[in-house]
Amino acid sequence: MENELNLVTLAQHFSDEDKAREFLEKLRWPDGPVCPKCGEVNNAYRLEPKPSKKDKHVRKGVWKCGGCREQFTVTVGTIFEDSHIPLSKWLLAYHLLCASKKGMSAHQLHRMLKVTYRSAWFMAHRIRYTMSQEPLSSKLQGIIEVDETYVGGKMRTHPYATKLGERPKDRPSGVSNKAAVVSVLQRGGRVQSIHMPKVTAENLRTVVKQMVHEDAHVMTDSSCVLAGALPTHKHDSVNHAAKEYVRYEDGVCITTNTIEGYFSILKRGINGVYHHVGKQHLHRYLSEFDFRYNARKVNDGERTLQALKATGGKRLMLRDSLRKVQ
Ligand SMILES: [Zn+2]
Repeated sequence: MENELNLVTLAQHFSDEDKAREFLEKLRWPDGPVCPKCGEVNNAYRLEPKPSKKDKHVRKGVWKCGGCREQFTVTVGTIFEDSHIPLSKWLLAYHLLCASKKGMSAHQLHRMLKVTYRSAWFMAHRIRYTMSQEPLSSKLQGIIEVDETYVGGKMRTHPYATKLGERPKDRPSGVSNKAAVVSVLQRGGRVQSIHMPKVTAENLRTVVKQMVHEDAHVMTDSSCVLAGALPTHKHDSVNHAAKEYVRYEDGVCITTNTIEGYFSILKRGINGVYHHVGKQHLHRYLSEFDFRYNARKVNDGERTLQALKATGGKRLMLRDSLRKVQ
């Protein structure tokens, strides 16, 4: 792992399946193989690959636990388990998504990795799933910027959209077609974004209560519904309508520019790379953008390693990724 991961070293590390597997073994098991059944560390031995009697299929990378005698490979219990896509392509896909600031479309993954479009779409969704944050172990502290934005869904009104006898107002408006995203960002720290079907003061209050420490100083813009929903927190707002973006009070910089900057990357990614994001999948895309933002201070290679380390204990079947959430 000493060598930094980039396109050049990737080509060496992931040139074939054996190297890709060895790479993942070193990453997941720095202290020796870990049995997924009994949890014993470094008490397993490699089984020599032999063609099985039935189908002559050679299983490589199989270990046998000295404790419980169970056989396992490095992909057991990860999102790679039972995948027909070569591990080397998975690892490359991870790097591409971690290193591209605005994401990468399934079409491009499909072309670059020589997998079907459907496989590429599924891989990208599984990767996003492993990028999702665990519930925060501690609440966000310090200066917190909270804001909402609306993504996707352009207004589709053409002259014949209204049928005979139908009033124009029976059609959903442009903005109702968009999805609301609320992000909570600790200045200099992490961000967490949520797809909120209805942005109301009550919903916002619940989110802030869950994620933000009581002593934090919350900043919003004056148009945010939250402006009137924060009785328990110290709260300041900037008035964008009056072209006020930054002001200083007692040496504290009151602004929402950090979160606006985050939203601009998110929107450029959603509009420019993904073009259309279904509302049922939006939370996965938010995980992806949040992940990259939260790992913004490390280089592309380290970010990839961080994402790969989170693959254990997470499996996502196709039906799960298709299931409508929220
Ligand atoms: Zn075991």
